[in-house]
Amino acid sequence: MGVHPGFLRATLKAMHLTGAGSLLAPFTRGVGVVLTLHHVRPEQPRDFSPNRILSITPDFLDRVIGFLLEAGYDIVRLDDLATRIEQGAGERPFACFTFDDGYRDNRDHALPVFERYGLPMAIYVTPEFAEGRGELWWLALEEAVRRLDVVEAGIDGRPQRLPAGTLREKEAAFDAIYWSLRAGPEREARDEVARLCAKSGYDPSVLSSALCMGWDELRELACHPLVTLGAHTLGHWALRKLADDEARRQIVESVRLIQAETGQPCRHFSFPYGDAASAGEREFAFAREAGLRTAVTTQKSLIQPHHRDHLNRLPRVSLNGDFQSLDHLRVLLTGLPFALLDRASRWVPSRGRLNPAASAASTR
Ligand SMILES: [Zn+2]
Repeated sequence: MGVHPGFLRATLKAMHLTGAGSLLAPFTRGVGVVLTLHHVRPEQPRDFSPNRILSITPDFLDRVIGFLLEAGYDIVRLDDLATRIEQGAGERPFACFTFDDGYRDNRDHALPVFERYGLPMAIYVTPEFAEGRGELWWLALEEAVRRLDVVEAGIDGRPQRLPAGTLREKEAAFDAIYWSLRAGPEREARDEVARLCAKSGYDPSVLSSALCMGWDELRELACHPLVTLGAHTLGHWALRKLADDEARRQIVESVRLIQAETGQPCRHFSFPYGDAASAGEREFAFAREAGLRTAVTTQKSLIQPHHRDHLNRLPRVSLNGDFQSLDHLRVLLTGLPFALLDRASRWVPSRGRLNPAASAASTR
């Protein structure tokens, strides 16, 4: 992840101004796109909201759908995605809308938009979130940092005291702690965040039931003609950091539970975080062995013809809360930023950061 902060933003700006994107589009556009979304909700994020990249408004979603239809895209069901990729480039590109984690706002604020158009959406469910006992640790960390004026945490293996009195300090502290935790074992990351929450007086156990749909809600949603449900592991783990048996269990059991609870087949999977540190060859093989029709990552790319051989590791493009503009989307859909990013990452020293390049994947 991560080329120099601002690289993608600058590239997008330059491409938009010069029209380079549309000139070069035929070489990079691909056969379609799988879009990643998390939250859809009308309220504006507060001052300190480092997770706002994960949230777009219903109005922007509406405009994105309108834009794609006008640009000649077919909006396809997740169940039709594999067939569409196997068919290769047709006359019209496709777009498939996928939502990670299973947030209630997907039903309350996104579904009504899709219903107005009569178009499909897919949600990757995390059973432990549905059961109200999941660890949404990136949101818990935000709440802890919001409450603390000084944050004491281990960063890159050293105990540090970070000032967090001002908005700027809070953002820097969140950024430093989040990416340091993402680099280490996930159990340790979650324990560290739990410790910070305790210190700040915040109880993070309320998050899953406050934000995520329970089984009763999911059962009802699974019967909706426009909605497809997929799986997202049992407890939202970066599978690559887990032992073989546990990584396999997180895939197989989440699929089994969703089928058992909803009574509907579950044939699709999304790797939590979805970056190279969270899902690799072993995990892709597990997804194939589990009999899944498709599995998606957060690797940033449009769908190209060769992805017909990689249905267990499909790339996606994120609709990022910091970039709610159709100009931005128009340039992304040319495919050129991803081609450039791929090149740049070979020679720009990278470190995970909450920058436009990294956040284009919204890897939570
Ligand atoms: Zn997720």
